Amino acid sequence: MTVYDLASDPKVSPIAPVIGYWVMSVCFMSLEKLNAFPQYRTQPPQDVDKKNLVTKSQVFVGVIGMQAVQIIGGIFLAQFEEPPGRYVQPSTLSALDEGIVSFVPTIPRTLSVWLAFVLFYGSRQFIAFAISDCWHYFVHRFEHVNKWVYKNVHSQHHRLYVPYAFGALYNHPAESVFNDILGGLLTAWLVGLTNAEKTVFFTLATLKTVDDHCGYQLPWDIISWIGRATGNDAYYHAVHHEPKGIKAGKSFLTLWSSANDVWHLQSNYAAVFTVWDDLMGTRKRHQDLKHEHAE
Ligand SMILES: [Zn+2]
Ligand SMILES: [Zn+2]
Repeated sequence: MTVYDLASDPKVSPIAPVIGYWVMSVCFMSLEKLNAFPQYRTQPPQDVDKKNLVTKSQVFVGVIGMQAVQIIGGIFLAQFEEPPGRYVQPSTLSALDEGIVSFVPTIPRTLSVWLAFVLFYGSRQFIAFAISDCWHYFVHRFEHVNKWVYKNVHSQHHRLYVPYAFGALYNHPAESVFNDILGGLLTAWLVGLTNAEKTVFFTLATLKTVDDHCGYQLPWDIISWIGRATGNDAYYHAVHHEPKGIKAGKSFLTLWSSANDVWHLQSNYAAVFTVWDDLMGTRKRHQDLKHEHAE
């Protein structure tokens, strides 16, 4: 069985992100335990136990319980998926390969095939992340502006003022279903992702969220390179978790807040890019926050 066959199995797409989540979390929690690389911490490590409103064991139990439900639900839904088939080269991929060869005639054929593969599947992952980021931005912003939803659903995630790796998916079950699962499935359906692409997409999205909450910005961390490239990195999300910035809307009837409310409400809602925070005027930089603390 090849890696592609494995990734194409619809039962693997709900399991692979969970494995990735814990492997990456164990790595970062080991660094935290050893107090390694303090120069790359996004927030002081001593604040983890001092400021957070929930213990690590409560977070662990909450995340494990939610992931168990996700895996069981995912495996159940997998029976209705297309059976995993062999990789079939789409005509677009061949056309792209031909285009590369005609553009650079001297390119070795093996390289052009790989380049076409990376461009084709890379752009589909990019589109998927762009769609899911839009979903995440507006759902997440709603979770802050509506008082009832914030108080009863999203405030669970914000019990962590100083996040750490395995707290990334410490969410209320309703948030997991609506924001993560529904957003992910809708994206996969809109882009028409294959089973293997779904496995890659869900796993990458999970690793990105662990990275955003890990409390580190390590220069050699490959996943953090995505955040550095888009501007939405661990510092970006650390600002979102800062106790000073965390606020919710004033009433159940509040469904939207104007951009002017950003300094009174919350900022940095997006998960992968910064485009929606920029467009909607809800972006706050880490330097701005340090400046506010100094005031
Ligand atoms: Zn939030
Ligand atoms: Zn968070």
